[in-house]
Amino acid sequence: MSPPPIVHHPAYAAPLPAGHRFPMGKFAALAALLRARGLLLERNLVEPEPAEPDALALAHDRAWVEAVLAARVDPAAERRLGLPVSPAVALRARAASGGTLAAARLALEHGLALNSAGGSHHAQRSGGAGFCVFNDLAVASLVLLAEGRVRRLLILDLDVHQGDGSAAILEDEPRVTTVSVHCRCNWPARKRQSSLDLALDPGTGDRAYLELLAGLLPGLLRRSAPDLVLYDAGVDPHARDRLGRLALSDRGLAERDRLVLEACRAAAVPVACVIGGGYEEDLRALAERHAILFEVAADLSRRPRPRRPAGSCPGS
Ligand SMILES: [Zn+2]
Repeated sequence: MSPPPIVHHPAYAAPLPAGHRFPMGKFAALAALLRARGLLLERNLVEPEPAEPDALALAHDRAWVEAVLAARVDPAAERRLGLPVSPAVALRARAASGGTLAAARLALEHGLALNSAGGSHHAQRSGGAGFCVFNDLAVASLVLLAEGRVRRLLILDLDVHQGDGSAAILEDEPRVTTVSVHCRCNWPARKRQSSLDLALDPGTGDRAYLELLAGLLPGLLRRSAPDLVLYDAGVDPHARDRLGRLALSDRGLAERDRLVLEACRAAAVPVACVIGGGYEEDLRALAERHAILFEVAADLSRRPRPRRPAGSCPGS
């Protein structure tokens, strides 16, 4: 079996001022690690087209798109974003959204694909927030819906922070089900209402987390009946993350990813994965943590795909 397609762009790693608290180095570190482990090869590497302004404007105000692309963002908006918007940061944001869209298209074709960036779930329609410039999950969803490529999507957001931007941008879009499983005590203070929010207590560990997820997924996939799942596999629920407050282990994250990918496979629903948040100081350790998703995906791809469940129709 071929390894699943991995979408990666060199622009994912944009230079930031020295000492900036966003771990930009993790994108290059992750790509290097995936190459070293034979998970990212010439034959499964896909370099995405950066998202076009018209695509970004499906999820964002045109004024925000234009300000970012011109690298002319006012200081108050930059403070909310938490990043200085240089031309390189602007290109990075376009590439990450283009990357999630490319992964979504590849998932529709192959069943499973991964973006080595993405999960900018705090970005709002009118501007960025929490290191998130453009909401790649909302952009990809709205482009595919506009093209008629899908009729319904599920955004499954397991980053430790609430997917407030996705919830707000898509609140009037009934064709997209937004689900956020997060720690209730984390930023953002003001949560927005997703289709389903599961707010966990700080310190929640592997066992409780995985039981909840295992109980949630089959019914969720049945009820929302998506043509595609966008899975935000943020690793900040890990016990050692600087910003998360949950207590998952490496093994717990692997089991989480396996549960999601296997549930999608059992329901014969394609899934496109994005890496989401992760804020460990040690970049090598952080890259290893993000690589768990890619290991699990590669392992799953080695197994034959089941047939669609009896009684269902292709594209239904
Ligand atoms: Zn996060």
